[in-house]
Amino acid sequence: SVKWGLIGASTIARQFMIDAIRAQADGAIAAVMSSNPERAAAYARENGIPAAVSNLDALLGSDINAVYISTTNELHLEQALAAIKAGKHVLCEKPLALTSDDARRMVVAAKAAGIVLGTNHHLRNAGAHRAVREAIAAGRIGQPIAARVFHAVYLPENLQGWRIARPEAGGGVVLDITVHDADTLRFVLGDDPVEVSAFTQSAGMAAGGLEDGAMCIWRFESGLIAQSHEGFTTRFADTGFEVHGSQGSLIARNVMTQKPVGSVLLRTASGEEELSSDRENLYVRSVRRFHAAIRGEGQPSATGEDGIWSLAAAEAALQSANSGRAVKIDPKL
Ligand code: NDP
Repeated sequence: SVKWGLIGASTIARQFMIDAIRAQADGAIAAVMSSNPERAAAYARENGIPAAVSNLDALLGSDINAVYISTTNELHLEQALAAIKAGKHVLCEKPLALTSDDARRMVVAAKAAGIVLGTNHHLRNAGAHRAVREAIAAGRIGQPIAARVFHAVYLPENLQGWRIARPEAGGGVVLDITVHDADTLRFVLGDDPVEVSAFTQSAGMAAGGLEDGAMCIWRFESGLIAQSHEGFTTRFADTGFEVHGSQGSLIARNVMTQKPVGSVLLRTASGEEELSSDRENLYVRSVRRFHAAIRGEGQPSATGEDGIWSLAAAEAALQSANSGRAVKIDPKL
């Protein structure tokens, strides 16, 4: 069985990951760590977690074999390295770190220690994205030529904290959402981005010089070009993901989300077909794959290397926005 320690008394763990771990036949949560002892105790009580601790050594010294890291982004590196050193498998939230260099340190350490490191890019687990990926791989749209990602949303009030106020914690929409878009494009297309050109904005929500909106244009290895739109201030937009090929288009709606929802339409010369897709909970599938990887069966849905890629892509987008130039993407793998 996998006994988990939670690093971070976070919203994402409370809303999705605690249930996803408990949905596994062989998953249990042994302890939660918060930097604040009162919050740790309250969180443990509210979520039925047996132990609450307020420092990392206590967590890593307890009877656990995996950790889920969902603290603010500047803390992931140090916490992951400590967990790896203690021999615990690590499922870490995105972005893995604040820089792709730091993310690489995590991957190198995990490899050397022989432990499993996963990045919690939940969208790889969405049935809709897997359906689009399978349709492309089966040749149903011919040669993919272009992709468009609509992932501009409204940041819920309860999350309007460090993301829009603390650059040092890795706030901003690019580290929050562009990483997901870069990863989902890589996953669905089976292709890697090589260059990005981006504009960012502060449209009134984010402070401290942080961006709350971004539009990126990506060039992929195959020659495909893609555009992505990420936002925190777009209250009334829909989300979507489209891939246009030489023989057809795949048009997915309401799929840049945490829920197993949305539609996928295939349009070709022979007409339109709604593709069915699996509705398994994204986070349950993520944890299931992670447990399998611990048993030596396959890889986590998104590996540490995938986390390096998405962060290198986001980093390049920020550099582009700051410099006014297109920037090459190099994960140095
Ligand atoms: P939260 O703001 O809920 O939690 C982050 C940290 O903030 C916690 O570790 C906690 O610190 C502190 N905190 C939380 N609530 C309070 C409070 N009421 N008062 C004071 N401090 C508080 O972050 P999220 O859950 O939104 O995000 C956490 C991580 O997960 C990020 O890396 C984010 O990018 C990622 N994420 C990933 C998603 C995905 O679908 N893959 C979705 C959402 C987030 P402490 O632990 O010390 O108590």
